[in-house]
Amino acid sequence: MSMLDFEISRSERPTPAAEREAVLADPGWGQHFTDHMVTIRYAAGKGWYDARLEPYGPIPMDPASQVFHYSQELFEGLKAYRQADGTIVTFRPYANAARMNRSARRMAMPEIPEQLFVDALELLVGTDREWVPTTDGYSLYLRPFMFATTRALGVNQPADEYMFVVIASPSGNYYARGIRPVSVWLSRDYTRAAPGGTGEAKTGGNYAASFAGQAQAVRNGCDQVVWLDAVEHRWVEEVGSMNLFFVYGAGDRPRLLTPALTGTLLPGITRDSMLKLAPDLGLPVEEGKISVDEWQAGCASGEITEVFGCGTAAVISPVGQVKGPDREWSIGDGEPGEISMRLREELIGIQYGARPDPYGWVHKIV
Ligand SMILES: *Cc1c(COP(=O)(O)O)cnc(C)c1O
Repeated sequence: MSMLDFEISRSERPTPAAEREAVLADPGWGQHFTDHMVTIRYAAGKGWYDARLEPYGPIPMDPASQVFHYSQELFEGLKAYRQADGTIVTFRPYANAARMNRSARRMAMPEIPEQLFVDALELLVGTDREWVPTTDGYSLYLRPFMFATTRALGVNQPADEYMFVVIASPSGNYYARGIRPVSVWLSRDYTRAAPGGTGEAKTGGNYAASFAGQAQAVRNGCDQVVWLDAVEHRWVEEVGSMNLFFVYGAGDRPRLLTPALTGTLLPGITRDSMLKLAPDLGLPVEEGKISVDEWQAGCASGEITEVFGCGTAAVISPVGQVKGPDREWSIGDGEPGEISMRLREELIGIQYGARPDPYGWVHKIV
């Protein structure tokens, strides 16, 4: 355990086993929460203190807390998996800790020691281990987040008091009815992130700013929105809240391209894992640039055979249809692509322990 001792107060009314089992049989996504949460406080000059494991429940907040007014908030997302032998693991939790600290620097928030972050996850998952589903493809989604609690409306400086919290939510298969390719909308009216902004930080404000674009995608009959660069509105950056990969599958030497991290993309840990796994499967990957025109032309010529989004929640989500105000085209034949599915199987195999873990990504909890 870390430099901080956690004060443990267990729930006196944990969810009865039968009720928990009913939830785990059909957990959906992000609607049910486990019996406990972790909270840790921070004050400038004092550092992190008051680490607790406590029953899941409301957090009393002063209405003048800075997060409500100026959105000083950030979050992370990762999963705990139950492997075949009963071992519970998380996937690359130190990468999430490091990313949270990069987000914290951008948002003028305090960094948290990586080990304290991982200890908090371990304590919560260890305590609520019965909430880690046993069903194939299900997991316990972990949501660490941090926000400013300073009671002040002064706008000229970051807060000096913060709270770090971890909650956990059992999650089913993102694709309850089998994987099907999604349709995506090329947003011309909205951008997600601009140079010098907060696009590479995992902060709630980026999501708040994206909902109008997502709603527009849905109004246009699409599942997700494609975010283009804010300057030229030409370069493809992300889809929804996922990073994108393009498969150049024609010929006998398939290869992948993913948009480079320019500062306006969120550096996904799934993306990073793909960059390492794909070459091991004989698929070279380039981090580069692709414009909407190149995407459309590549599909028309048959050079681009598959496109997928990737992130912790959905793992890999094939893209089948692209629509914009002035164009529309499809990718592949409406079925998930072979290379996308091979990469998905490989990553899931490592997470659930069905495949070797050559990079030591899997972190054993209990
Ligand atoms: C979290 C997130 C991703 C995916 O990151 P993972 O670490 O792979 O889950 C991609 N894009 C955005 C905007 C995100 O917030």
